[in-house]
Formats: sequence, structure tokens, C-alpha cells
Amino acid sequence: MSFADSLWHETAGETFKARPPLPGDIDVDVAIVGAGYTGLWTAYYLHSIDPSLRIALVERKIAGFGASGRNGGWCSALFPPASTGIARRHGPDAAVAMRRAMHEAVVEVGRVAEAEGLDIHYARGGTVQLARNQAQLARARELVEGERGVTGDVEGLELLSKEGAEEHARATRVLGGTYTPHCAAIHPLRLVRGLASRVEARGVSIFERTTASQIRPGAVLTDHGTVRAEIVVRATEGYTPSLRGQRRKVVPLYSLMIATEPLSAEAWDQIGLRHRETFADLRHMRIYGQRTADDRLAFGGRGAPYHFASRTRPSFDRNQRVHSALRGVLVDLFPVVADFEVTHEWGGALGIARDWHASVGLDRRRGVGWAGGYVGDGVATTNLAGRTLARLITSQENGLTRLPWVGHSSRSWEPEPLRWLGVNAGRLLLSGADRSEARRGRPAKRARAFARFIGY
Ligand SMILES: Cc1cc2nc3c(=O)[nH]c(=O)nc-3n(C[C@H](O)[C@H](O)[C@H](O)COP(=O)(O)OP(=O)(O)OC[C@H]3O[C@@H](n4cnc5c(N)ncnc54)[C@H](O)[C@@H]3O)c2cc1C
Repeated sequence: MSFADSLWHETAGETFKARPPLPGDIDVDVAIVGAGYTGLWTAYYLHSIDPSLRIALVERKIAGFGASGRNGGWCSALFPPASTGIARRHGPDAAVAMRRAMHEAVVEVGRVAEAEGLDIHYARGGTVQLARNQAQLARARELVEGERGVTGDVEGLELLSKEGAEEHARATRVLGGTYTPHCAAIHPLRLVRGLASRVEARGVSIFERTTASQIRPGAVLTDHGTVRAEIVVRATEGYTPSLRGQRRKVVPLYSLMIATEPLSAEAWDQIGLRHRETFADLRHMRIYGQRTADDRLAFGGRGAPYHFASRTRPSFDRNQRVHSALRGVLVDLFPVVADFEVTHEWGGALGIARDWHASVGLDRRRGVGWAGGYVGDGVATTNLAGRTLARLITSQENGLTRLPWVGHSSRSWEPEPLRWLGVNAGRLLLSGADRSEARRGRPAKRARAFARFIGY
């Protein structure tokens, strides 16, 4: 089972004893389905606004079992869609407001961790994205120009020369890149487990090994009884399709990771990442890495297949082809890594909305709230979601509740087999585009445009 296979699980410093399930029917003020970051941040901020609220979370496995306990630990200001997409849909002021809110979220995660005494290995070293062929270099320029064209200097996104990029990470074939200061590397599982223990200590109930089958206005139906509540929040992200009536809300896409043993000081002298900058290159099929607090490389990427009917299974967390390819890419970036062992392989499901637009909202009439569709950018975004949901639920409207993702509604994904065909075609096109760009140096525009057209 992949949850226990991860580096994060081994280094979380705890025994993962499950909490008891729901004891039968109960009444609360707010019921939350899913004890990942979204559910726990919502509980955390709800309790801090109104400590008298009765809040209960139901979790199918244990807190942190989902993407929150398995991710790459980029606590970043990335948000789907990017500023240009937000400006197109909601206007340039909305894009600037969203950028500022995301910057604050990165800081807020670190602030809460410190205030709560959570040792999450937070290091705000920013993100370097490397351009390693001419097509990626062109994309670096486009990214910086696009961002500046919409939000001016708000993002502080720098275009890097070859030397500038190598100041951060000395990878092979680097031609340039981009750098943003708005990212911290963290230990993701320590954050989610720590949040669970802090909210529980304040009186929030967490029922583990309790599976919700349906969310209804005023109630969550589970295999251990019904939680009746004025407000019910769906915080199930990639697992949402397993809930009754929610099959086409998001597609679960698997992202897989590996981690190495700790590298030697000499190896780190060659690689760099002195400030624990998170790193990627600018290929289409996203890769992401961090230098961990104990000097390993934790590295991941997309590319695993989408499974028919949006199924999620523990066996999908491992894919030898993708895990081996990840090791190959890591060694290609930093050849010295070939001398070190890969000690961990794992993966997990993230959630993608049909228009690749994350959203948060509350349907007050039905008493149902939600947040999700973060693609692979949920670590900081879930914090913003939790603060926003807490304000929506307690009717404390402010700037947060007016951000453009609040109340955004994405259309449903296509029924099968179209969904399977479209998502997997997009995946193959993007990896084909990366191979062609690496060979020819020219941007593979047609493949990219087609992938975008089908929503990938
Ligand atoms: C391998 C990987 C790497 C990633 N890397 C990054 C990264 O570096 N930076 C970043 O910003 N984002 C990253 N992400 C995405 C990020 O982890 C997620 O967006 C975020 O954790 C979502 O949090 P969540 O609480 O909404 O969902 P989850 O953490 O998935 O939590 C949902 C919870 O709901 C529970 N649940 C599901 N169905 C039910 C049910 N029916 N009844 C009861 N409980 C249920 C699940 O067990 C789970 O615990 C990555 C994701 C993956 C998989």
C-alpha cells in the first residue's frame, strides 16, 4: 500500500494509529468529508472564528491518507489556471488579487506551523524552473512576459540566464530558466498529521475508517451512521467520483514520486539547491523536486495513465515504467544521483476539474460547501480554501470571499469512454511533444494546442 511506502511516511516520526470510526448517528453544526488539507484547514479556521461550533470530520482511511500525505511538498503560489487564464476569464484585477492571496497562503502555512509548533521542515527557498532546450527557453520567456503583462511586478518572476539558473541548480544542458521566491519546501505529511492533532485537541471530532457514500443537504451518509449538520463540506479531491452523484466532477490523475537516500556533501556541492529551492524544468509533462531537510532528493512527475471510470486503487500508486522513467529523468538532470540509491517509490491521485480551474464555494441554500480541482497545486491553495470556506460558512464576507475562484463552477467531464480517450490522448500528446522538443529544439505547438483543446 503506497501511503506507507512514501519517504514522508517513514520520516513523519509517528506510529499512525487510526482514530475510532463514527459511533452511529450524530448531530453537529458543520460536517466535513475528507481529512486532508482542505478538510483540516477548514476545521482549523472555522474553530478559530467560532470556537462554539460543533465540527466533525469523517475520513475513509486516516488523516493524511490522500494527496495531502503523499505530495511533492511544494508549498507554492501556483494556482490553476495561471494569471493569464484568470485574467481572460475574470479580468486583470482578479488575477492580481489571486496572485496576492496565493503569496499570502505560502506565508500563512509557515506562520501556522510555527505558531502550532509543527515541525514541517518549512524552507522558503522559492522555485527554479530550468529551460534545457530552445523550446523550453522560449516557454520561460513567454511565462515571464505573460505574467508581467497581466500582473506587472506582483509575482516577482525572474527570467534567468544560464548562469543565473545554475546559481540555483547545476543541472545538465541548462540554457536559462525562471525563478520565483513564492514557494517553500515542506514535509507534507507532517503538516497534515500535525493539523489533525491540533484541531482534535481543540475539540473538533475526527472519525477515521468511516466512508461517506453520499452528501445530501443537511446530512452525510456513511457506513457507520449519518452525520446531520447544517453545513456539509466536500473535501475529497481526487476521490470525489466515488461519492454518489459526483462521478464527473473531477478526474483523478495519478502523480508518482521517488526519493533517494541522503546524498553526500560532495554531491550537493555539484547540484546546488543551497536554499532548498524547489525545482522543475519546463517540459509539458510536469516534473517537480525538492531537496529534503535530511538531504535527499524527493522527485515526482505525471505521466501515469488515467484509469477508466475515474477509478482510484492502491495498486495505481505504483507503475514501474513511470517510476523507472522518473529515476532516469533525475539522473539526466543531475548525473551524480546515479551513485545513490532510490529508497522509496509511491504515488497518489490529484483532482482535475474539466476547465482546469480550482474552485471553492458554499451553496447556502442547500447547505453544501466544497473546495478542490487544485490539479497539482493544492498545498498552499488548500490553506486559502480553508480560510475562505470558514468565512463563507460563518457569513464573514471579506476580500477572500470575493476572489475569482469563489463560486466558480466547472462543467462536468464527459461520460466514459470519451473521458478515458480524451485524458489519455492528452497525456500521450504532451509526452510526445516533450520528446520532439528535446530532439528538435522547436516548440511542439500543434500537439500542445490539441492537448489544450481536449482540456489536458
Ligand atoms: C504525488 C503527488 C504530488 C503532489 N505534489 C504537490 C506539490 O508539490 N505541491 C502542491 O501544491 N500540490 C501537490 N499535489 C497536490 C496536492 O497534494 C493536493 O492538491 C492536496 O493535497 C489536496 O488536498 P485535499 O485535502 O483536497 O485532498 P486529499 O489530501 O486527497 O484528501 C481527501 C481525503 O478524503 C478522504 N476521502 C475520500 N473519499 C472519502 C469518502 N467517501 N469518505 C470519507 N473520506 C473520503 C481521503 O481518504 C483523503 O484523506 C500533489 C499530489 C500528488 C498525488
